[in-house]
Amino acid sequence: MADAAITVIGGGVIGLAIAAELTQRYSPVFLLERNPRYGQETSARNSEVIHAGIYYPQGSLKARLCVEGRELLYALCEKNGVPHQRITKVITATKTEEEGELERLFAAATANGAPIERLTAAQVSSMEPGITTVGGLLSPSTGIISAHGLMDYFHHAIRERGGEVQMHCTVVGLDRVSDGYRVSIREGEEVSSFTSEWVVNAAGLEADTIAALAGIDVDAAGYRIHYCKGSYFALPASMNGIVKRLVYPVPTRHSLGVHAVLDLGGRLKFGPDVEYLPDRVQNYTVDPSKRAVFAESVRRILPMVKDEDLTPDMSGIRPKTQAQGAPVRDFAITHETARSLPGLINLVGMESPGLTASPAIARYVAGMIAA
Ligand SMILES: Cc1cc2nc3c(=O)[nH]c(=O)nc-3n(C[C@H](O)[C@H](O)[C@H](O)COP(=O)(O)OP(=O)(O)OC[C@H]3O[C@@H](n4cnc5c(N)ncnc54)[C@H](O)[C@@H]3O)c2cc1C
Repeated sequence: MADAAITVIGGGVIGLAIAAELTQRYSPVFLLERNPRYGQETSARNSEVIHAGIYYPQGSLKARLCVEGRELLYALCEKNGVPHQRITKVITATKTEEEGELERLFAAATANGAPIERLTAAQVSSMEPGITTVGGLLSPSTGIISAHGLMDYFHHAIRERGGEVQMHCTVVGLDRVSDGYRVSIREGEEVSSFTSEWVVNAAGLEADTIAALAGIDVDAAGYRIHYCKGSYFALPASMNGIVKRLVYPVPTRHSLGVHAVLDLGGRLKFGPDVEYLPDRVQNYTVDPSKRAVFAESVRRILPMVKDEDLTPDMSGIRPKTQAQGAPVRDFAITHETARSLPGLINLVGMESPGLTASPAIARYVAGMIAA
């Protein structure tokens, strides 16, 4: 018999959600995290928006799991006191050429099951007087959440249900054995190993590295991860309240566009931009020289913002499976039976809306294990 029933690699919001789900049915469940604390990478460096599910291609995992995850998340937050707010979101067209895109978004949202309402320019202006608009959309189910509050809840649930969370623990080997996998771990200077019937790879920016440890050719599988940084600039507290909702421009093919993000404290920041990194280094410094470009994007929706109002804030790195300029790809969540690796589930390319979708992703993975 293997030492563990299931081992989850990665203590970000997705690994934590999966382990919390699985501890309800299996034992022992291990969650391994290389950092001193869970949730120190992408899950701590994002917009903390509960997305409605407007933008993703119909039928994609991103669309399905976002819509399902959003509802699960609101229910979970309300039941367990996780800080969140149904703040809603306005998408504004700033010139008449963008109105066609609003129609396309309306149709996409409706097809995906994301509630959406058309707004005239006058309606947008009465809701958000400071923004430029020729018309827009309201997403009433968009919200904001404390990502740390959510991860604390999942962590508590894992521990309460008898799961084991091990920090400072880096997975360095994954070998197929008769009753599952031999998982090799490094804790400080020490390397040891144990066996696990199932392994779930939720290693975020290193999910391809973990897949490669199991012998998968990551390029052939389409699992190679490209680091794509998103930076934010913030406004001073004296400008809190210039918008009451999240405000997004009409998206481009590659990005949702630099948008106004409010946190639960009412602080307003703008971002994230899109910057593919040339190497796989987690460099979170925000380049102050981007300020003028940010200010110009921000003024398209909020003309009163001046360059000097903006200060460099935080950044995060998206684990994208598409290289720069390549078409958008879906989440890859795969039980690797076709690669002769039964019992291994890889989650690769878990970019946005991974935070929103996390409880639905957890159910999806549990379904693969139960099948
Ligand atoms: C700029 C930005 C904005 C975003 N905004 C939103 C948003 O508003 N709403 C939304 O829904 N989503 C958003 N997202 C997406 C969301 O943040 C991610 O989908 C989610 O956080 C991914 O979680 P994860 O658990 O897969 O990854 P991570 O949080 O990266 O966790 C993976 C963990 O695996 C660990 N690990 C790696 N290798 C090993 C190893 N060998 N051994 C042990 N542990 C290992 C890492 O230390 C890490 O803690 C955004 C992302 C970015 C970058």
